[in-house]
Amino acid sequence: MAEVVLKKVRKTFGKIVAVHDVDLNVADKEFVVLVGPSGCGKSTTLRMVAGLEDLSAGEIYIAGQLVNDMPPKDRDVAMVFQNYALYPYATVYENMAFGLRVRKVHKEEIRRRVEAAAETLGISELLDRRPKQLSGGQRQRVAIGRAIVRDPKVFLFDEPLSNLDAKLRVQMRTEIKQLHQNLGTTILYVTHDQVEAMTLAQRIVVMNAGKIEQIGTPQDMYERPQSRFVAGFIGSPSMNFISCRLIESAGCLAVRIEGGPDLPVPSSKTERYRPYLGKDVFLGIRPEHCTDSRHHEPGSGMAGFRVRVDVVEPLGMDTMIHFRLGAQRISSLVDPYAAKEVGEGMELMMDMRKMQLIDPISDRVV
Ligand code: ATP
Repeated sequence: MAEVVLKKVRKTFGKIVAVHDVDLNVADKEFVVLVGPSGCGKSTTLRMVAGLEDLSAGEIYIAGQLVNDMPPKDRDVAMVFQNYALYPYATVYENMAFGLRVRKVHKEEIRRRVEAAAETLGISELLDRRPKQLSGGQRQRVAIGRAIVRDPKVFLFDEPLSNLDAKLRVQMRTEIKQLHQNLGTTILYVTHDQVEAMTLAQRIVVMNAGKIEQIGTPQDMYERPQSRFVAGFIGSPSMNFISCRLIESAGCLAVRIEGGPDLPVPSSKTERYRPYLGKDVFLGIRPEHCTDSRHHEPGSGMAGFRVRVDVVEPLGMDTMIHFRLGAQRISSLVDPYAAKEVGEGMELMMDMRKMQLIDPISDRVV
């Protein structure tokens, strides 16, 4: 059982608290992704699990064993870095075999494992080359291969795809996911890219300023963000946050946007939102939930309104349009054939069942 458990883990660098009392349980065979903006403490957290940084406080357990004082080589974890960290003068074979030689694994066993990993990763033809004779994607495969041959309890990935071009990144993402499905090893993976987090993770951990903001499945994060930070960080394009006031009109709650329409709140949300009646709040709505009206009838939570198109951005499958409600800029994803030209009027529908109400003081989703 290769469970990874962090209990109140803290890391300070002088006065900077890089990681702030983090509690996290990664189950055996689980794929967990730590995601957050630059400087949020995700790499430091991973490096503490690897044993490359000491803890300032707290405890880390791998497979039930406290590892705080255990050197990295004894932790049975394998780490894959953004910069690959390959030995430039060694062949691919030697790079992959090195860790096993150090552990005094028998020569024949080393050959068997390296060849099997190379086969899995499609790099069998490259075993005699040196890193500089490889593309970025091939180098990253070698770095992953070097981790696989060790057959570790836990894989740790630190932004492994960040140096690759966009197309290769998507391809390697699929390969890493497939690798996890085949090997079934526990993975803790760090990225700043929320799409990578959404596509790879069984559970996502969103970090912000050294703290965990929220832990959940990708769908949970998308549908039920608990804070404005998570609501804005997960999902692409990002959620719109619209300043408004919660009012009551004809016995129903609605959000009033200054210089814009009143949008009715669905009755299913009335009770939860009522304490905010008369208060300034943020309406959070994703661009894909604010769309053209062709396929939607008013009622059942859809609120219609008219806008003037400011900017049009074709994306292929959808078209993003930007407009203003009052003074606030908002974006919406519409059917490319329904999108109007700049300066033209357009009917839009907001799916108010998908709205989030955010308390502007606590930044928590209500
Ligand atoms: P990035 O995606 O940019 O790598 P990150 O989320 O991984 O960011 P960390 O590298 O964990 O963030 O850094 C967290 C905080 O700790 C940052 O404020 C960083 O400047 C600080 N920090 C990290 N390592 C050190 C160090 N060795 N000495 C001093 N401060 C450090």
